[in-house]
Amino acid sequence: MRLVLLGIGQAGGKIVDRFLEYERQTEQDFIEGAVAFNTARADLKELSHVPEHHRQLFGEVDAKGHGVGADTEFAADLAEQDAQQLIRSLDDIPTSRADAFLVVAGLGGGTGSGAAPVLANELDRIYEKPVYGLGVLPASEEEDVFAYNAVRSFRTLVNHVDNLLLFDNDTWLKSGEEVTEAHDRLNGELVRRLSVLFNAGEVTDENVVAESVIDSSEIINTLRGGGVSTIGHASSTLPTDDSSGFSLGNLFGSSDNEPDEIEAMNRITTAARKATRGRLTLPCDVSSSQRALVVTSGPPQWLSRKGIEQSRQWIEEETESMEIRGGDDPRSDSDRVSVTVLFAGVTDIPRIEQLRERALKAAESSGDSDDLSETELDDFADSSVDGSDLKR
Ligand code: GDP
Repeated sequence: MRLVLLGIGQAGGKIVDRFLEYERQTEQDFIEGAVAFNTARADLKELSHVPEHHRQLFGEVDAKGHGVGADTEFAADLAEQDAQQLIRSLDDIPTSRADAFLVVAGLGGGTGSGAAPVLANELDRIYEKPVYGLGVLPASEEEDVFAYNAVRSFRTLVNHVDNLLLFDNDTWLKSGEEVTEAHDRLNGELVRRLSVLFNAGEVTDENVVAESVIDSSEIINTLRGGGVSTIGHASSTLPTDDSSGFSLGNLFGSSDNEPDEIEAMNRITTAARKATRGRLTLPCDVSSSQRALVVTSGPPQWLSRKGIEQSRQWIEEETESMEIRGGDDPRSDSDRVSVTVLFAGVTDIPRIEQLRERALKAAESSGDSDDLSETELDDFADSSVDGSDLKR
């Protein structure tokens, strides 16, 4: 699936930068173009892989290139003023070849939190392609205002994108680790999972049984319907046939190195369970998801049909959903088998509830209601994420 990536704010820019680095390192090809937008000049300078001419400062007259602090409304105003100019910076990207846009932002900060919904809306107005969001939720150790911004931005962004993928910093922190020190590691975890998903369907492999290979329409159909999505992933390293570390006969798919059928099947079903019951990008009750997509990746001879079918059935039971898509992502040169599951339209998300409660408490105890408006947060109290109030 081919994507145009837009990173807004510091987290957004860094994550997009990491996508480009990962795509290059792993010789994948699913990014049609990438831009980074920020109100802080220094954050744009920190990037390494987003081309210089695709790093765009906005709101310069008012923010003077120094950012907006945690003021999301200021960021939203600046993005609205400069929206056309920002969208024009996509002119030299062949957007017609892309399947979708992905707008990436940290929801707890200022620039990304405030500007991402504005830009998603603008993209939706101009292009007919789906616009997806990728939002990062703040860690518990971060200030109250991050929780407040995240809840507000979440609520707005989910209404302006075709689907909102979420990654929770808090869930992925190790004990004793500080979130700012962990950002790079977290970005690695996040980008690896999303790259497996989005790169699926971009395979041109001779050893492939064409009808079982996933294509971009399956990803789009799984994300269609809006709401929030989360991703699970697990892999197992394949045995090597000698000490040099080469994977078993996978380089040329030679028949004398065919794996044992039961072992191939078990590796896939075990990975599927771990992907579903292990750590998700956003923890949630998967039985509340409306749709799921199961991508099984690995050398073609390890992609056991039985294993893939059993995993699909197991996930169908686990999610209590009839809408489970699945397919192969054959990688001849891979040394592992992995299962990646996209759970779409999830509604039971305790982490959002925690953030909302924390933000509400902070609003109640805050003397400065301009900073933390209790009334606005109360609006979220009755709102579920069931997609019923979404535009699609
Ligand atoms: P902005 O530049 O004003 O949009 O603010 P940030 O993008 O820095 O947003 C702050 C939030 O994003 C906080 O919750 C940070 O922990 C988180 N954040 C900042 N940079 C990164 C990053 O590189 N990776 C991850 N995972 N989170 C980040």
